[in-house]
Amino acid sequence: MSEIHNVVIVGSGPAGYTAAIYAARAQLSPVLYEGSVTAGGALMNTTEVENFPGFPDGVIGPDLMEMMRNQAKKFGTTLVTDDIVEMSLEGEVKVLKDGSGNVIQARSVILATGSAYKEIGLPNEKRLSGRGVSWCATCDGFFFRDQVIAVVGGGDSAVEEATFLTRFASKVVLIHRRDSLRASKIMAERAAANPKIEFLWNTEVIDVLGNEKVSALKLRNTVTHDVSEREFTGLFVAIGHVPRSELLVGQIDLNDEGYVEVGGRTTKTSANGVFACGDLVDHTYRQAITAAGSGCAAALDAERFLAGHN
Ligand code: NAP
Repeated sequence: MSEIHNVVIVGSGPAGYTAAIYAARAQLSPVLYEGSVTAGGALMNTTEVENFPGFPDGVIGPDLMEMMRNQAKKFGTTLVTDDIVEMSLEGEVKVLKDGSGNVIQARSVILATGSAYKEIGLPNEKRLSGRGVSWCATCDGFFFRDQVIAVVGGGDSAVEEATFLTRFASKVVLIHRRDSLRASKIMAERAAANPKIEFLWNTEVIDVLGNEKVSALKLRNTVTHDVSEREFTGLFVAIGHVPRSELLVGQIDLNDEGYVEVGGRTTKTSANGVFACGDLVDHTYRQAITAAGSGCAAALDAERFLAGHN
């Protein structure tokens, strides 16, 4: 309890690890809480990442995170595989508590807790979660070999999940509430050319049905409002994310959607000495490379803050 760290980083996606690399190279001896089950962040649930600069042949998401983690460690980051469960961010010395009950003090804190999968909010979505309803194709796709499954959403995540799931499923139906995708052109074209993917436009899922396991979806046409049922054994939800900012409510300024507010182009939050980066802040770009860039900015902001406070 007596030691006061220069920087404690909470979260371990590209933002957290990049902040750690910069803070460690600035001799700030950062401590990074990488999470007990979520270490590595969202990229741990992806396969091939084709757009991270420096990897012209693509890189597997978990491999990229392992490389960032090793780089942070190499320069002297202390990595802790635990969660932060409480934070007090107002005072000059910030006080955090981890999942094992340890209390950690810090002069500055970098928040990089990312975001979590959004749920549709169907009456039976939670009950059938793990019984056919999933948010992670790379984790669960294997269980749907030769089955007909649905993916909900119209962004890059949905298209990526649908394309990946064709490795296993006999058919993947991508259900979207509008008549066009918001996914990037290259990914949308790849999905459109995939004979195993069927697009169901102007359709929303209003419930997922089944006793022990998913057996069908209740659908509504958003134009005609007709309600129908169609058999599926799996439902993959890929409709975006919500920021992981529960612990920050009442401590620092958040916007209406729960994202952390930062000052201008900096990573400064409303609490002095507290910086935020990655998907916790960014609801626009949400790329591994932009998260890494903002992690770098957070470390530089923290370094300047600490230099200013000796
Ligand atoms: P997104 O772009 O926000 O798309 C979410 C999709 O889900 C939208 O099509 C939206 O419909 C739909 N949706 C939202 N709420 C819904 C609801 N309650 N019911 C039904 N549909 C709903 O989210 P994302 O696809 O997760 O992508 C987020 C960011 O990550 C993007 O910047 C994306 O480029 C990036 N990303 C990149 C890659 C890659 O490059 N490899 C992969 C995955 C994600 P509307 O279209 O009607 O709004």
